[in-house]
Amino acid sequence: MLINYPRSIILVMLLAANLHSQANGVIRVGLLSLDNPLSLTVTVIEGNYKLLAGRQSIVLLKDDNILINRAGEKILVSTEMSNNILADSVVIQSAEKACYFSIRNNNRAAEPREYTGNLIVKSDIESLLAINEVDNDMYLAGVVQSEAGVKGNIEYFKTQAVLARTYLFMNIKRHTLDGYHVCDRTHCQAYNGKSESKTINQAVHATRGQVLVNADSLLVFTPFHSNCGGQTESSGNVWLTRMPHISGVTDPYCTSSNNARWTKKINRKDWISYLRNNGYRHNDNDILDFEQLNRKRYYSAGSFSYPLTRLREDWNLKSSFFSVSLDDSTVILNGKGYGHGVGLCQEGARVMTERGFKMREIIDFYFDGLLIINIDDVKPSLEISSAF
Ligand SMILES: [Zn+2]
Ligand SMILES: [Zn+2]
Repeated sequence: MLINYPRSIILVMLLAANLHSQANGVIRVGLLSLDNPLSLTVTVIEGNYKLLAGRQSIVLLKDDNILINRAGEKILVSTEMSNNILADSVVIQSAEKACYFSIRNNNRAAEPREYTGNLIVKSDIESLLAINEVDNDMYLAGVVQSEAGVKGNIEYFKTQAVLARTYLFMNIKRHTLDGYHVCDRTHCQAYNGKSESKTINQAVHATRGQVLVNADSLLVFTPFHSNCGGQTESSGNVWLTRMPHISGVTDPYCTSSNNARWTKKINRKDWISYLRNNGYRHNDNDILDFEQLNRKRYYSAGSFSYPLTRLREDWNLKSSFFSVSLDDSTVILNGKGYGHGVGLCQEGARVMTERGFKMREIIDFYFDGLLIINIDDVKPSLEISSAF
């Protein structure tokens, strides 16, 4: 039957099937934030697990510890009731949804993090690679907590959940060659383990399957940041691509929030020397003071102009939305907001929900012309098709 279809139609059908099979399934997350471990300890916190390594299958109960060490291309696994097992990989499989475990890099001081779902550990090029195989809603709840905190009401978290789900499915092929879907760092979306918040879990459940698309039913990039300082940034001012759904808005909601204002003092000599190193030719008559009432793209000093986004990066500033004033020895930067300023402003969105706005109204405020549809109705996006 299929033989008569054009090749492109078959490809689209295959892509659609592939995307949809992820919608209700499990996500494999590379736990790169373990920071190149050579030795891991996994502890069962709640429920029962089955450990599969080599030909062995061992039942794990609450409080059991598993030590996993790298042994060249193999791994060495030991539990309290087994000898060392040399294997290619270990799978720690949960018996039910409520089970969770913690995992820790034995050579780092970081607190162990807790995860639901399964864990797979194998030897990678120079360290162990841990992959958390987790129900996609559980993963999204963990992402929302990591990216948006625990402070907020259900409409705020519903908004974040839809953004996180949209981003997930746009980037589901990002780490195919690494053997997982997404990593747990900000390269994809921060995922510091399971959500502790009932409100976040409810928000993810209430928006199940919902994603943001443009008028062509294609998934769209929907970035967010902590605080825009009163004006969001047009996408083209920060990134090379101008996106029609992100044009920049005046935001009256975030201007009294935590990250609305910042100040930084810099030695005048250091500032001028930095500008010189980047092409500025100093003239004593130049006015180095600079005012940014509305967002600008460039800092200017005399006839010299320099991208504000680069200043932000080089001086590790909270935002690129700042004014500059100088005295004899000091440069004072008076800034607004925190983050790149593009897309949804989290502190503004939080205040909007406190004033009674709903998810739909928040999305319409920060983005233009987006629709909320179910992932099953999304056309395969360029990002997904380009992976084939
Ligand atoms: Zn990544
Ligand atoms: Zn804002």
